[in-house]
Amino acid sequence: MIPSPTNSVTELERYAELAEWQPEIARSRDAAVRLMRCSDGELPDLLAAARAAKERFKPGIVTYSRKVFIPLTNLCRDYCGYCIFRRDPGQPGARTMTPEEVLAVARAGEALGCTEALFSLGDKPELLFPEMRAALERLGYKSTLHYLEAMCELVLRETILLPHPNPGLISMGLMLETTNAELMRPGAAHDNAPDKAPSKRLRTIAEAGKQKVPFTTGLLIGIGETVEDRVDTLLAIRDLHRRYGHIQEVIVQNFRAKPEIAMAEQPEPSHGEMLRAVAVARLLMPKVNIQAPPNLSEPYYDDLLDSGINDWGGVSPLTPDYINPEKPWPHVEQLRRRTEAKGFELRQRLPAYPEFLPALMAKPGLLSERLHAAVDQQGLARRAA
Ligand code: SF4
Repeated sequence: MIPSPTNSVTELERYAELAEWQPEIARSRDAAVRLMRCSDGELPDLLAAARAAKERFKPGIVTYSRKVFIPLTNLCRDYCGYCIFRRDPGQPGARTMTPEEVLAVARAGEALGCTEALFSLGDKPELLFPEMRAALERLGYKSTLHYLEAMCELVLRETILLPHPNPGLISMGLMLETTNAELMRPGAAHDNAPDKAPSKRLRTIAEAGKQKVPFTTGLLIGIGETVEDRVDTLLAIRDLHRRYGHIQEVIVQNFRAKPEIAMAEQPEPSHGEMLRAVAVARLLMPKVNIQAPPNLSEPYYDDLLDSGINDWGGVSPLTPDYINPEKPWPHVEQLRRRTEAKGFELRQRLPAYPEFLPALMAKPGLLSERLHAAVDQQGLARRAA
């Protein structure tokens, strides 16, 4: 498959060139599937190629976004089999935040040097639950999305944080997760999750591309998909990026089992599967930012640096990971030490990556003003911590 690795810089550079220019190196579906199925003996070759590609196009640094997590509502009309976040009205922990609560979290994050307010919420709960319709009416909004929009504006107006909304089908961030619609069959991960239809999500990502919205998406591995599905999902993202040039980041996320979820008995993907998926993502999209969450690969998360990531995603000094609450984010200092031990500098970035900032900053308005105040000369966070 790919040449044997050596430690010489020129050899590593050659891998990166192969990844970029030679179609037989993870440029076709078959080649990508073969790479994702590589044996343990071949894995070091794959990782060397991926890391070389990362160094060619994203040299020297690995980024993270210092954020607060704002779970605007955990009511959701979908029932994904792996989700621990969602609630029905009346269930313990069911909650919709008030504007005052949103602002309090954002201000606390501001005091801790955060630059991102990541809004996460369930999908269109008002379509299923009269309780949510009543709550929205009390708050003065027609839909959850209208409420979200107002809360993004509130945070932008009242704090220095940059809002990054993540509300399902209309968003700056939407995990494609998988292109396999079979996972919507009864008993599968997306049974009773109408918003997870791959065609709808592909359409949303394409719409964002037409509007030139810098977009975060990604792949979820271990939810019942095949290796071919993983490759197809990455290829679908690559195709969208080739058409619109708007994919700022591809997240490769691994399913983690929890006793409370419908998929509690589903085996988790192995660390090796995760490394292969990340490396193939890097080789298929050598110039795109590739992220993997560190807390979901603890205690071995620094291995992900060997597979070609250039970003750790959002890490919060304040709020827990509400999606995987049993897996706390590492402390930023620990993240820095382990990143540096692999030879990279850890830098704080903004919710939009440097290459997407000029277009955002060119549009007059409050967002542009906030970006000008937050950005440094390299397009990263000025108040790097
Ligand atoms: S993963 Fe998202 S869409 Fe699915 S049930 Fe959880 S909150 Fe709802």
